[in-house]
Amino acid sequence: MTEVASASMAKMFVNGEWVEAASGKTTDVINPANGTVVESVPKANRADTQAAIRAAEDALPEWADTSPDQRAALILAGVDKIKQQSKELAKVLSAEQGKPVFEAMGEIHHFLHGMTFYAGLASKIRGSQVPLPPDMGKHSFGLVMKRPVGVCGAIIPWNFPITLMGTKLGPALIAGNTIIVKPASSTPLTTMKIIGLMSEAGFPAGVLNCVTGPGREVGEELLSNPTVRRIAFTGESGTGRRVMEVAGPQFKRITLELGGSDPMIVMPDADMRKAVSGALIGRFWNAGQACLAVKRLYLHEDIHDEFLEALIKKVNAYEPGDPSTKPEKPAVRMGPLHTAAQRDEIEEQLADAVSKGAKVLCGGKRPEDPALAKGHFFHPAVVTNVPHDCRLVQEEVFGPVLPVFKVKDLDEAIALGNDNQYGLGSSIWTQNLQWAHQAIRELQAGVTWVNQIHYGYDELPFGGVKASGIGHEHGPEAVEYYLETKGAVIGGLA
Ligand code: NAD
Repeated sequence: MTEVASASMAKMFVNGEWVEAASGKTTDVINPANGTVVESVPKANRADTQAAIRAAEDALPEWADTSPDQRAALILAGVDKIKQQSKELAKVLSAEQGKPVFEAMGEIHHFLHGMTFYAGLASKIRGSQVPLPPDMGKHSFGLVMKRPVGVCGAIIPWNFPITLMGTKLGPALIAGNTIIVKPASSTPLTTMKIIGLMSEAGFPAGVLNCVTGPGREVGEELLSNPTVRRIAFTGESGTGRRVMEVAGPQFKRITLELGGSDPMIVMPDADMRKAVSGALIGRFWNAGQACLAVKRLYLHEDIHDEFLEALIKKVNAYEPGDPSTKPEKPAVRMGPLHTAAQRDEIEEQLADAVSKGAKVLCGGKRPEDPALAKGHFFHPAVVTNVPHDCRLVQEEVFGPVLPVFKVKDLDEAIALGNDNQYGLGSSIWTQNLQWAHQAIRELQAGVTWVNQIHYGYDELPFGGVKASGIGHEHGPEAVEYYLETKGAVIGGLA
């Protein structure tokens, strides 16, 4: 078995080789649980990124000519290598990101499932043949051909660095494109190890590249360099605007997977046990740092009190602490917030709500245990009496704080659910088909889950509306964004 944590892995991967930044500069990757340095990575600049773009451009013609079966076989060989090392990779992911190891393991599995899904789709990409009017000759027909877009840039955030790389890598590679992955500066380590294992599977040099460095250098070069024809971006809505500003005028193929503020609606006939669990996982997985997290909970007045009591009992079971360890049951581990700034922001959003009359029913504080002082820990909070126009409701809350609202009926729940700039996910919990249909029709969101936790399935397209983005990832639909459609007309007989 290959040793995952080899020294060379702390370099970045360009043109089939592990390299340093030309400047020799590095960035420390900090463990959010204790402030220690996990490893250092190259701090690339625009020139380093241009080298990767050139490598991807040079590798393109040969890679675009490979057969779909060859592409799929290489992806599956990479998946095999990663699978063998998934436990070690999950530990690295936990150390750099802060999520508990069992959650990190879940993320690696999600990545492997997604890559396997796309490997299976490689041989199913096809165009079509279209009969044309006979004016230009009998039996003339058109061809709709699918071809790779070219060099792709994948820009990835820190909250789910591995699954969100997979949602870009899988469709890009099967469609015959070459790619440059730019991880967030604070979570590059597992990404690079995975890129290394994939490339060991036999991808030609330049097909798969990973450049580490700041968004304003590496990211901006990917956005502005005319050789890069496709930008797949996941991150904040503000950064998404910048992507449009720089890459838009060059008519690049852009998808934006941005922030969210998902409403979850619970009706009086819902399965309470499942709905409580849905709210719990939906809001507090990854310490609340998920785009599709349940960020606002609307409870029907008939079940409001009972639901809240059951929920708070479960929320109190969370124990913030070292994500590499498990607490004794029934306690459940919650890792730290990813950065100090992230925790500060949550605290400010919560304080703003409290100053306007909100009531914190549990949590909402830093742990007092001095052993946790060097990490960005926070006790998860449930909050009521929150005015709908305050920051905790109108902004994206990227941490473990859940505002809960009492509603008299579904119309009110949907109106409040839609009272937000975002439109990523949403859910309704009910046995009543009419209510479910109404919610699916009327909630302004890219997805509505019915009696299901908020989750991005590899099989289904996922993407937001309003300030949550443009385009889709996941599903066969995502592959279209990595393909050019070319028409051809074959003249008929005289
Ligand atoms: P971010 O926008 O700060 O950073 C995302 C990536 O963009 C990073 O790699 C960063 O280095 C890069 N970047 C920053 N400035 C750039 C620039 N000027 N040009 C090019 N690249 C640049 O986001 P984040 O804080 O890492 O991630 C959290 C956000 O991501 C949240 O808003 C969350 O909701 C969102 N998100 C959305 C989805 C989705 O599928 N809709 C999934 C996960 C996370």
